[in-house]
Amino acid sequence: MTSPTLPGAPFVAYRHDALHLENLSLQALAKAHGTPLFVYSKAAMLSALAAYQRAFQGRQAKVHYAMKANSSLGVLQVFAQAGCGFDIVSGGELARVLAAGGQAKDVIFSGVGKRRAEMKTALQAGIACFNVESEAELDVLNEVALACGKVAPISIRVNPNVDPKTHPYISTGLKGNKFGVAHERTLQAYQHAASLPGLKVVGIDFHIGSQITTSEPYMDALDKMLDLVEQIEAAGIPIHHLDFGGGLGIDYNGDTPPAADALWTQLLARLDERGFGQRQLMIEPGRSLVGNAGVCLTEVQFIKPGEQKNFCIVDAAMNDLPRPAMYQAFHQIVPLHPRTGHPTVYDVVGPVCESGDWIGRDRALDVQAGDLLAVLSAGAYCMSMASNYNTRGRPAEVLVDGDAAHVIRQRESVQDQMRGEQLLS
Ligand SMILES: *Cc1c(COP(=O)(O)O)cnc(C)c1O
Repeated sequence: MTSPTLPGAPFVAYRHDALHLENLSLQALAKAHGTPLFVYSKAAMLSALAAYQRAFQGRQAKVHYAMKANSSLGVLQVFAQAGCGFDIVSGGELARVLAAGGQAKDVIFSGVGKRRAEMKTALQAGIACFNVESEAELDVLNEVALACGKVAPISIRVNPNVDPKTHPYISTGLKGNKFGVAHERTLQAYQHAASLPGLKVVGIDFHIGSQITTSEPYMDALDKMLDLVEQIEAAGIPIHHLDFGGGLGIDYNGDTPPAADALWTQLLARLDERGFGQRQLMIEPGRSLVGNAGVCLTEVQFIKPGEQKNFCIVDAAMNDLPRPAMYQAFHQIVPLHPRTGHPTVYDVVGPVCESGDWIGRDRALDVQAGDLLAVLSAGAYCMSMASNYNTRGRPAEVLVDGDAAHVIRQRESVQDQMRGEQLLS
């Protein structure tokens, strides 16, 4: 029998040997909507959010959902209605927030390569803050703001250079990567920002990486940030808000990241100790709000025994679910209705013409053609990274809310894919 504590439990669970999401049988959803199909649990998303909210009770704190993790309108709507703001990385994402019922005043704009047109649109919409990632960006944002008669609220993203030896999973908070302003240059950057008439300093931020499974890197980065805030304020530049980014990991395969409330209880204690507990606080979680709330359903097309490997060929592929091909990421793959025979070890692969098109390697499964499988922990960085490679339409998406299933995105047709293309005249 399959492990009772699947990633996504208790929202993802077997009931009478049939895999369910909340109260709905996933087999029934696959039959009704076809495969590959992404299915998300609203309760799982709200439960993940509630863990942060518990820790922040009685604080001035705002959760900005990092929407690149999953930017489907129905998902954004859930978080907008739950009172979240949004962390965006493009003008397109701002348009999605507004289309989903979110408000520009609750938006912060991150990213190393913001274009002038994107800056202008965000300024005119009245977003809360630009998280600036370089000194050059300060100058350009100042020019754009002055040209449209606005003052841009800014935070500077600090690269805290958290020690890689103790924290090997950190990938964006190290010297040598493209994100943020070097720790040693931060004070100068703030002094420069404060001198520019088109900018108003409102905060400071960091985002040190993703799928972080221990609290130490956050503790280290927090202390470094607070040291900087003390220096910057001593230079006469007030910092209104502190933004700690996202990055908290989820369970893909027995990973045990701290719970969001436990992590934040620890971080808040440190903030209190250092006298910053009553500041305006912000966070930008993505993966930890949606990753375990989603599954991808796929049908076994063929079983192909081989001399070295057996292949289980399914109808989901790297274009639908790019994380294994891109990052060698692991997702659990489980049957919707487990069989009782002997498992065989398979590479679970998609139909795309690339050897990198695999979903899982060396998986023990008892399956036959026509069986349905669920790829777990597929709520984050799957659909939002999906492509049309091999002219494959992107999957449909369903949001489950208790006993109800809402289609939040129709399956993409080949006409959808060819829209905007033209033959030579
Ligand atoms: C991607 C990103 C996040 C969210 O990261 P998760 O690991 O999904 O929580 C937050 N902030 C910034 C600036 C990001 O680029």
